[in-house]
Amino acid sequence: MRALAVREKPTPRKSDNKLVLIVEDNDLNLKLFRDLLEAHSYTVVETRSGLEVPELVRKHRPDIIIMDIQLPQISGIDIIRSLKGDRDMRNIPVIAVTAFAMQDDEDNIMASGCEAYLAKPISIESFVDTVQKYTH
Ligand code: MN
Repeated sequence: MRALAVREKPTPRKSDNKLVLIVEDNDLNLKLFRDLLEAHSYTVVETRSGLEVPELVRKHRPDIIIMDIQLPQISGIDIIRSLKGDRDMRNIPVIAVTAFAMQDDEDNIMASGCEAYLAKPISIESFVDTVQKYTH
């Protein structure tokens, strides 16, 4: 017996979407960021491990990176420093997110070379606004 032909709609094109790399080890924050970004037509690549960032950046060439600072194996600050020291990767905007509240911490984070810094708990509106600002 012949298999029935399956009619399918074409897969929606995603190629116009900007691609965001989310680096976040907390599942709830990761889900929040992913949901917000996908709701605004971004394509998301995600990792819980800061150590995977260089490989993922080379593979996917994200338009922007959301970087948690407190990660298990490596500080987000160190990852940002190494990205910003790399000729091929330094032009990718990085938005740091962290629960750190002290002024010294904020200064250290901004000194790493990131484009913007958002304190957790994030404001949804400023999160989306900031991502859109750096992905125009
Ligand atoms: Mn974390």
